[in-house]
Amino acid sequence: SILQQVISEPKVDNLVRPINPSTYKLANATLMIMARNQDLRGVLYTMRQIEEKFNSKFHYPYVILNDGDFKDNFIDRVTKMTTSKVYFEKIEPEEWNQPDWIDSSKQKSQMKVLKQQNIAYANKVSYHNMCRYYSINFFNHPRMREFKYYWRFEPNTDYFCDIDYDVFKFMEMNNKVYGFVISLYDAQETMPSLWPETLKFLNKNKNYLNKNAAIDFLMEDMQNPVKTEFTGGYSTCHFWSNFEIADMDFYRGEAYTEWTKHLDQTGGFYYERWGDAPVHTLGVGLFADRNDVHWFRDIGYKHHPYTNCPHSDKCHGCEPGLFTYEHLKDQNCLTNWWNYEMDDTSRQLY
Ligand code: GDP
Ligand code: MN
Repeated sequence: SILQQVISEPKVDNLVRPINPSTYKLANATLMIMARNQDLRGVLYTMRQIEEKFNSKFHYPYVILNDGDFKDNFIDRVTKMTTSKVYFEKIEPEEWNQPDWIDSSKQKSQMKVLKQQNIAYANKVSYHNMCRYYSINFFNHPRMREFKYYWRFEPNTDYFCDIDYDVFKFMEMNNKVYGFVISLYDAQETMPSLWPETLKFLNKNKNYLNKNAAIDFLMEDMQNPVKTEFTGGYSTCHFWSNFEIADMDFYRGEAYTEWTKHLDQTGGFYYERWGDAPVHTLGVGLFADRNDVHWFRDIGYKHHPYTNCPHSDKCHGCEPGLFTYEHLKDQNCLTNWWNYEMDDTSRQLY
């Protein structure tokens, strides 16, 4: 049999371990999820794993955001799943709903095209609202404003490995802005104007571009770009944002804020079907230093149908490997991150 490399925690000498829960000083961070009442089972399913693998050792608070109102039963069941504080928060309609200046006949005809291209959720306005909210608004929710770092999770996702160090303090102590596990290509048809609009913005605001931006990751090998029939140059390779740990002060900063304002006023969140993953990725890829982005190799994670299962005795209930479905492997673009953006300093972490 082939000897496998055992995957371990980041190789830094300042990982913070849980000590005494009563005296432990938390980082300024929260575990957050967006959900509706009907997501209760899935929320509990994933919270149980996050508690078992990580949070019962640290007791970070949760924020649960909803555009509607949570039923008492939802609040009871979720509260009982953790000893941590849970904030149940409503999203204001003005922050959530599509703006009234969106041209509904244009929206309708554009959605028809997306439907014909078999783009998932094309006709679901609530999905567009969700993607827009995660792209431009969630970090300014009054409750989220109390925190700097967040770990986003989703209902029905799996966390396979014991996490025995404080991931938020890891981010803080190593100046990381953004952390991810899985990276893949998106459907080009969802974002014809996302990159062109971004270029328009950049041409007027050249100073925002980070000197050490992850451009090759976004464009793919500049000598050998991928075929981008629909996007105008962006490879669509993105950090899969249904799990992410990031610093919201980055989103609240001028570059990300001004850029997303520009994007929003084009109506692209409704005339096209931009996901929050490509938006976060372009923002981080352009305005952050690539050395401040961290690939969490050691976090075992699954959101159907993609998995990252590290080979480690900290992980249980998954088959070691990345993208375990053979027929989906060509969607994996994590190699672009390794090949183009990881310098020696970053590599030393693994
Ligand atoms: P997918 O992963 O792209 O298929 O999208 P999901 O259906 O998993 O939605 C992403 C996240 O947004 C999940 O946490 C959902 O619970 C949440 N979500 C999606 N639509 C809505 C909505 O209309 N209202 C609320 N409150 N949450 C939503
Ligand atoms: Mn999902």
